[in-house]
Amino acid sequence: MQTGKNYRFWFCTGSQDLYGDECLARVAEHSKIIVEKLNQSGMLPFEIIWKPTLITNELIRKTFNEANSDEECAGVITWMHTFSPAKSWILGLQEFRKPLCHLHTQFNQEIPYDTIDMDFMNENQSAHGDREYGHIVTRMRMERKIIVGHWDDPEVKEKLAGFMRTAVGVMESSHIRVMRIADNMRNVAVTEGDKVEAQIKFGWEIDAYPVNEIADYVKDTPKGEVDALTDEYYDKYEIILEGRDLEEFKRHVAVQAQIELGFERFLEEKNYQAIVTHFGDLGALQQLPGLAIQRLMEKGYGFGGEGDWKTAAMVRLMKIMTSGMKDAKGTSFMEDYTYNFVPGKEGILQAHMLEVCPSVADGKIGIKVCPLSMGDREDPARLVFTSKTGPAVATSLVDMGNRFRLIINAVECKKVEKPMPKLPVATAFWTPEPNLKTGAEAWILAGGAHHTAFSYDLSVEQMTEWADAMGIESVVIDRNTNIREFKKELRWNEIAYKLL
Ligand code: MN
Repeated sequence: MQTGKNYRFWFCTGSQDLYGDECLARVAEHSKIIVEKLNQSGMLPFEIIWKPTLITNELIRKTFNEANSDEECAGVITWMHTFSPAKSWILGLQEFRKPLCHLHTQFNQEIPYDTIDMDFMNENQSAHGDREYGHIVTRMRMERKIIVGHWDDPEVKEKLAGFMRTAVGVMESSHIRVMRIADNMRNVAVTEGDKVEAQIKFGWEIDAYPVNEIADYVKDTPKGEVDALTDEYYDKYEIILEGRDLEEFKRHVAVQAQIELGFERFLEEKNYQAIVTHFGDLGALQQLPGLAIQRLMEKGYGFGGEGDWKTAAMVRLMKIMTSGMKDAKGTSFMEDYTYNFVPGKEGILQAHMLEVCPSVADGKIGIKVCPLSMGDREDPARLVFTSKTGPAVATSLVDMGNRFRLIINAVECKKVEKPMPKLPVATAFWTPEPNLKTGAEAWILAGGAHHTAFSYDLSVEQMTEWADAMGIESVVIDRNTNIREFKKELRWNEIAYKLL
């Protein structure tokens, strides 16, 4: 599922008229070359649009306001090629409402030792001009991403690509609408939260519907469509009967096909991009949506179990941030289930009752039909698989009462040692950074949930910067985490957010 918008980023170069027209012509030429080469690099997910050099108050203000009103502009990349007195940026920055990147670079990579003179110095002084500009952005307390290095350095381009994806996450957050079936699971604390505050902070719209409104859409799905989708499942996935009757199995699978089609029609018609279900409130639905939800997540919908709308919105957000990514490894709703405490093999087995997104699958995907052992419905069909290996991020957004906190854990995904033939759900297995004991202790201290929004394709840095842009607290658990420092950070944040 795409965002529907062709996002672009504007490249604005700052200078002044002190050095003459010849110098300004070269400033423009240099920035044009940088934009052209960056666009040709193939490393950036979105196009950069070159803008004429910014010199005066008026032009800076006008450009930022045009960026605000251009629906396709997802952010502005700024760079001071020469010196640009920063007071001229105040009004423009004050009115600017989109993600800002400060690319602290210069046209040449190396000092031209043999030819360098004062003219060269005056023309190429971003080490100087970018500090003047940086000062005013800091003084104005504005969030921005600073990227330092030569513009042709692959690491710089990677950071720029990361910024772009985060910026699109910031822009698209306010278009996320979560459809809730009924309420949160009774008595559960961590999946609750302040929906009004979530709309103020993130722009999320979170609406509840009686389950039978969506169940009607499921019931009204034409049989021909259900049969066609069931056939598609049978073509695409391995059927794991495990002794069940062939026809009875297929009937159960068809129920999920019908749910997928009915749910999708409901979500599309009413413009929702994320959904939550609740196994205890299924109304006229015959099965807990399992395979159906897995398929919807793969299409880009956000999901949270047991009414967890915060995680559903985060899954949708992270799917937007990674959409169209080459070689993406996947993004999913996940739940911490069971530990392996064997020394040297520590980790957390991740799954949910049914709903893990097949985008994270490694290898073959099968369909099983098994009892749920919870609730009162017929045995739901579900996709089963194991997940990819490698680094990933697990995030949990919690409501602390006076603020939201995003907990971001770097994790290392692994294979479990042996197959688990009796476990009829999709799984992942990871060791949290810095290790299981410290990682889990820090997570619990920070109040992290058992549900997570998980992705192989986003970094701790990107999630932190998204939280910064939203004006919420974030805490990181990674290889640098130690409990004594982490507790201090939580304690200090408590004060900081009381004052903010
Ligand atoms: Mn759950």
